[in-house]
Amino acid sequence: NKRLEEVKSLVSAHPDFPKKGVLFRNIFPVLRDVHGFKTLCDLIVEHIKSTSPDVELIVGLDSRGFLFGPIIAQLLGIGFAPVRKSGKLPGETYKVSYKLEYGEDSFEIEKSSIKQDQKILIIDDLIATGGSMKAACELVEKAGGNILQCFVVIELNCLNGRDKVNKPVHSLLTY
Ligand code: IMP
Repeated sequence: NKRLEEVKSLVSAHPDFPKKGVLFRNIFPVLRDVHGFKTLCDLIVEHIKSTSPDVELIVGLDSRGFLFGPIIAQLLGIGFAPVRKSGKLPGETYKVSYKLEYGEDSFEIEKSSIKQDQKILIIDDLIATGGSMKAACELVEKAGGNILQCFVVIELNCLNGRDKVNKPVHSLLTY
């Protein structure tokens, strides 16, 4: 697909960032390119319309899920809600903790953001080990959501992150 190739050609790769041995994929050059970002948004909207046409709410992960979530939600004519690192959201929240390579982190969502059984699509820029997406799924279900799919722009194949997530995982670009 020519449009996918156009977007993929804009994603840059950075060896040994943020630490030695990691090859970091950077999505920001896509957003910097007005035509490339438009193409990416079109591809995401077409994908969602054909795979989860009845989605009711987009949930985006802190922080690069926020780059795509609200604009895609607007294009679909539905709302957006954020999953944030803990301590950032006001009012009543649900919380889940998840393991990192060293130590632990946690995500929160506002209790009021999801209605019981609401049909949810979770979005992020990239899936690596799948730890973040797995935690986000737990959180969305705790809040009463019905997860239709987890969508990422980029999937790092070799880490098998999708196997950790027990929901359908869809990606546009794989490495
Ligand atoms: P995971 O929890 O190991 O799947 O890591 C996914 C999370 O880490 C996502 O929120 C990504 O934004 C971030 N991440 C991991 N690796 C990369 C990368 O190579 N480029 C950009 N973000 C990354």
